[in-house]
Amino acid sequence: MQIIVSQIPPEGLKIHIVKDGDWFRRLASGDLIDQYSVRKVEFKGIAERVAKNVAIKGEIVVDAVTQCSRCLDSVPMNIESEVMNIAAPAAGTSTWAEKELEREELDLLYYENDTIDMEPLIFEQMLLLFPIKTLCDENCRGLCPVCGINLNRETCNHKVEDIKSPLEVLKNFKITKNK
Ligand SMILES: [Zn+2]
Ligand SMILES: [Zn+2]
Repeated sequence: MQIIVSQIPPEGLKIHIVKDGDWFRRLASGDLIDQYSVRKVEFKGIAERVAKNVAIKGEIVVDAVTQCSRCLDSVPMNIESEVMNIAAPAAGTSTWAEKELEREELDLLYYENDTIDMEPLIFEQMLLLFPIKTLCDENCRGLCPVCGINLNRETCNHKVEDIKSPLEVLKNFKITKNK
C-alpha cells in the first residue's frame, strides 16, 4: 500500500494493512526467517499531514512464533504496540545509506515523489518489536552442549560445569521444580 501525500485529506487517511507469512518471507533475510515465523501482521492507523511532513500513527499487532534462545523450542509471540512515525520529504540527493543513517539518528523517515510506501515501514516497525532474545521459560535449561539433547525434557550424564558462567550457575540455583 502506498500513500500519496498530496492526496491525504485534511481529516487524515485511514490505513488498514494485513499481511501474512509469505509477505514476511519475501521481505526478510535468511537469518530472520530462521529465527521468526510470522503468521499475521496487522496495522490499523491514520496518516495525517502536518505541513510537508506526515504523521503515521496507529497500532501494530503481530502474531508470530520464534525460538527459545537456549533450547530452540518454538515460542509464540503476540505483540501489540503503538506506532508513531514522522515521514518528511527527502531533501537533496543523499544516498539511501546516508538517509538510513540520518533516519536512525533522528528517528525520522523520508519519502520521495509524494509517496510513502507503507509495507517497508510496517516491516521495520515489526522488526523493532521483536525481542533479541526469547526464552521458553526463565528457567529453561537449554541444550546439552555435548550431546545436544533438550535438558528440559531429558537428562544426560554430561558435565557442563566447565562452560558455565557465574550467571548461569546462579540461574540454575533458582530452579526448584524438576521439569
Ligand atoms: Zn527453552
Ligand atoms: Zn549430554
